[in-house]
Amino acid sequence: MSRRTILLNPGPVTLSARVRSALTDGDWCHREPEFAALTRHLNAEIARLYAGMEDTFDAVLMTGSGTSAVEAMLASFAPADGGTLVVANGVYGERMARMLAVQGRPHEMVQSAWTAPLDIAATAAALDRRPDLTHVATVHHETTTGRLNDLDALGALCRERGLSMLLDGVSSFGAESIETEAWNLAAVAGTANKCLHGVPGLSFVVARKSLFSHPPKQVGSVYLDLFGYHAAQHGDGYSPFTQAVQAAFALREALAEHREAGGWSARRETYRARARRIHDELTSASVATLLNDNEYSSVLRSYLLPDGLSYARVHDALKAEGFVIYAGQGDLAQTVFRIACMGDIQVTDLDALCRALRSVFRATS
Ligand SMILES: *Cc1c(COP(=O)(O)O)cnc(C)c1O
Repeated sequence: MSRRTILLNPGPVTLSARVRSALTDGDWCHREPEFAALTRHLNAEIARLYAGMEDTFDAVLMTGSGTSAVEAMLASFAPADGGTLVVANGVYGERMARMLAVQGRPHEMVQSAWTAPLDIAATAAALDRRPDLTHVATVHHETTTGRLNDLDALGALCRERGLSMLLDGVSSFGAESIETEAWNLAAVAGTANKCLHGVPGLSFVVARKSLFSHPPKQVGSVYLDLFGYHAAQHGDGYSPFTQAVQAAFALREALAEHREAGGWSARRETYRARARRIHDELTSASVATLLNDNEYSSVLRSYLLPDGLSYARVHDALKAEGFVIYAGQGDLAQTVFRIACMGDIQVTDLDALCRALRSVFRATS
């Protein structure tokens, strides 16, 4: 067998042997009771991953990438009357505003530069000006830069003013702290193939149970209607549409590994240790970070390309050694590269990565 590839992009991730072998567990029909039982199991495991969600939130599993979960959350819970304030500082926040525009849902956006924190002062001002706004939509870990957004500050505003938070937690769910009450969290969207270490194909929304008992007159999508999924999955366990059966096998094992390893806080520590090691290696080769050290999530960091070294050269040299990194997006495409540290990465992989980084960057510094 050829050498493993270590994925340092923000999902999908390098699979553990246990998760990979679950993919061949069998040919199941998604409309048989064994799959209904598996769906119920996965939803229960996802909801109990955070202590604050276990009793008051329900998870709903769907087939689609993380974007589909975010879009389902907005299509189902962003109000058609009133409005949603999107607080954005990167690609994924801005994408939420685009979704609301496509869905014809009233919204406004408070937009910061991609390298800046969420603009809390402008958010408070917008809320003062627009008492009709009832929801705030934002991104927890903005993967554009690696910034872990300050949701304690934004959440306090939501709580004080009684606004519901709709959160894109796609690149944080399972590895960063998520507060339900302090942030007035209504729903969070996540995916199988980032911090949970499953395969791409399944995503989910975890939302307050009470939300599901008040379906709106019209949901902004047929496929992405979370009320339909919830009624089915939390009724007899079936789903309205074909589910990614093999991805569900993989997610079952990934969630078991996550729990056995100590849950989200243990995963955060694992990522922090990996990120620190990579950071130290790059810093000693004079590679600087885009953001300040203390602004990053545990999951991903963005680094500035040194003068005279293109992204393609760095990417190709690392890929030749078995490591896949990620480019910057938009205006950052020419100046930044990103390294995530999710997935089944062993210490020997990190050793090899550090050697590869040294030869790419030391050669030019
Ligand atoms: C990865 C990611 C998504 C979803 O991307 P997909 O390509 O649909 O998996 C959404 N939001 C954030 C913050 C992400 O990192």
